[in-house]
Amino acid sequence: MAEAALYDTYSRAPLRFERGEGVWLITENGERYLDFGAGVAVTSVGHGHPHVVGALKEQADKVWHLSNVYEIPGQEAFARRLTNATFADKVFFTNSGAEALECAIKTARRYQFSKGHPERFGIITFEGAFHGRTLATIAAGGQEKYLEGFGPKTPGFDQVAFGDIDAVRAAVTDETAGILIEPVQGEGGIRPATTEFMKALRQLCDERGLLLILDEVQSGVGRTGKLFAHEWSGVTPDIMAVAKGIGGGFPLGACLATAEAASGMKAGTHGSTYGGNPLAMAVGNAVLDVVLEEGFLQQVRDVSLVFRQGLASLKDRYPDVIEDVRGEGLMLGVKAAVPSAELLQAMRAAQLLAIPAGDNVIRLLPPLVVTPDEAREGLARLERAAETVRASAKKTA
Ligand SMILES: *Cc1c(COP(=O)(O)O)cnc(C)c1O
Repeated sequence: MAEAALYDTYSRAPLRFERGEGVWLITENGERYLDFGAGVAVTSVGHGHPHVVGALKEQADKVWHLSNVYEIPGQEAFARRLTNATFADKVFFTNSGAEALECAIKTARRYQFSKGHPERFGIITFEGAFHGRTLATIAAGGQEKYLEGFGPKTPGFDQVAFGDIDAVRAAVTDETAGILIEPVQGEGGIRPATTEFMKALRQLCDERGLLLILDEVQSGVGRTGKLFAHEWSGVTPDIMAVAKGIGGGFPLGACLATAEAASGMKAGTHGSTYGGNPLAMAVGNAVLDVVLEEGFLQQVRDVSLVFRQGLASLKDRYPDVIEDVRGEGLMLGVKAAVPSAELLQAMRAAQLLAIPAGDNVIRLLPPLVVTPDEAREGLARLERAAETVRASAKKTA
C-alpha cells in the first residue's frame, strides 16, 4: 500500500464510523458502539440531536460565513446568554480550545499591560495540565512529550505541583500576570482541584493583583453536572476558556471574561477569521437551549449517581482490574490496576468507547443526554471488559 497521505500524528484505532445516533456510533458494517468518549467530551447532547441539526440546517440555508467586520447573526445573542448564565461580562468566540486559551492568555497579559504593568506577563500553570497544541499552549501545559523538538519553549509559563498552594505562592513574582488552572484536570487523569485549593488561588490572585484563568474546555457546559465546574467550589474566575461541549461537535470555542479583565482588549488587539461564524453560533445557541433547559443539569447529576454506584461496585468486585474511580458528574475517571491500554482494548472489544488519560486512567465522558438504562448498558460492557482482562491475566500468570 502506498504511504498514507495524512500526517502520521495520530495513532488511530481501526474503526470507521458512518453514523451517530444519541450515545451510539455505528460502523460501516452496522456494528453499534456505545460512545462514552463523545469525541473527547465534545458531543455533549449526543450525535444527531434533532434540535441542533435543525438549527444548523436552517442557518445553512441563510448564510454560512460573514467577516467579523460585520455584525454576525446569533453572536450577540449567544454571548448575552453566556454572560447571563456565568460570572462573565464579555465573550470572544474562537474555533477551538487552544484558541480560547490563546485569547485567555492574551487577555490576561493585555490587562496587566493596560494597567501600566507590561512586565507582568507570566502565567503560573500546573503539572499534569493540558491546554492545547499551539506553541503557547504546549508551553502552558509544560509536558515534555508535547514540547520536544519544537524549538525554544515559549517564555512566560511557570509550572508548579497541582494542589500545592505554597508552591504557587512561591512562584508568584513581580512579573506574574495570572494563574491558569483546569478545575478538573482532564488529560491529566480526571484530577479535580479541591474547593480549598480553588479558594486559596482566588484569594492569592486578589492579594497580588493577578487574574484567575480557568480552562473549562473539557469540564464546562454541563459536563460535571453544573454549567461550569468551578461552580462546585463557589469560586469565580476573571477569565475562562471554553470549547469542546459548547459546540456539540461543531468547531466552536469561547473566551469569557469580566469587563475589568477584558478591559485591555481594545479594537484591533485580537481577531479570528472564523471565530463566531454564523453556523457555529446557530449550533452553539441550540446546544445551549438543551443544556439550559429546566432540569437538564439535574438529570446529569442523577445519571452520574448511576455511574458512580456501578463503578464503585465494579471496583469492589474487580480490584485486580480497577484501582480507583473518581470525577464529578459525567467527567469520570477509572484508574486501572493493569496497564490502562489493556482495559481500553477490552472495552473496545465489548463495543464500549472511552478515552485514555494520564495516571493510567480511562476517561468516561458520555454525552450528557445519556439515560440511566444506557449508563447500565455501559457498566455491563465495562464488566465484560474487566472479565476479559482478568481472564487473560490468569492465563499469563
Ligand atoms: C481539549 C482541550 C484543550 C484544547 O482544545 P482544542 O480544541 O483541541 O484546541 C485545552 N484544554 C483542555 C482542558 C482540553 O481538554
